[in-house]
Amino acid sequence: MKTIGLLGGMSWESTVTYYQTINEIIKQKLGGLHSAKVLLYSVDFAEIEKCQAEGDWEKSADILSAAAENLEKAGADFIVICTNTMHKVAPRIQSRIKIPILHIAEATAEELKLRNITKVALLGTKYTMTQDFYKEKLTNAGIAVLIPDEQEIETINDVIYHELCLGIISETSKEEYRRIIDGLARQGAQGVILGCTEIGLLIQQKDTDLPVFDTTQIHASKAAMLSIEN
Ligand code: GLU
Repeated sequence: MKTIGLLGGMSWESTVTYYQTINEIIKQKLGGLHSAKVLLYSVDFAEIEKCQAEGDWEKSADILSAAAENLEKAGADFIVICTNTMHKVAPRIQSRIKIPILHIAEATAEELKLRNITKVALLGTKYTMTQDFYKEKLTNAGIAVLIPDEQEIETINDVIYHELCLGIISETSKEEYRRIIDGLARQGAQGVILGCTEIGLLIQQKDTDLPVFDTTQIHASKAAMLSIEN
């Protein structure tokens, strides 16, 4: 079994889901007392969020690269960055380590292709929804991406940073998200990507008729399967 290097804490609320999901899958696949071999480097999210807000991606890349180097030294076979947004600096982190990074958007694109989705709604932080680093992985795979309007982007983003990353789950915010998802479905989305690792804490498949692609579940499942692949 390979050792998974989790780069987590962004936020820790969703890193918990990664740890749990990975172990559930290993238990299901291998049975008995089997559990995943995991190294976790959990950063202080306040430091990362400050870099994001100040646009200092260089500094955040340095913090995360140093953490990834430590995971590599400690024996990780591959790296799982437990956030969509910080994949913005994935190429810079990759340039500092020899072990591979399991890319969250590539894993999600694979899943969408398996389900024959050609047009998808993307929810995530404002960085993930409006910048190219994430969407290009989907469009390169032949999948068109729909994002909410400007005001809705602010709403989605505020809920992530002021509620979900703090463990606050609100019915009002759930309704807002559902309203935004319905709007994107009317524009032709065949599915919705929960492109922020905390959104799954608020929205699940039972909350919408549109097929839901939860990046935390997809990423964690791929990581577990990769760790036991021959
Ligand atoms: N976990 C979130 C994501 O998947 C947002 C927190 C962050 O900015 O890293 O994008």
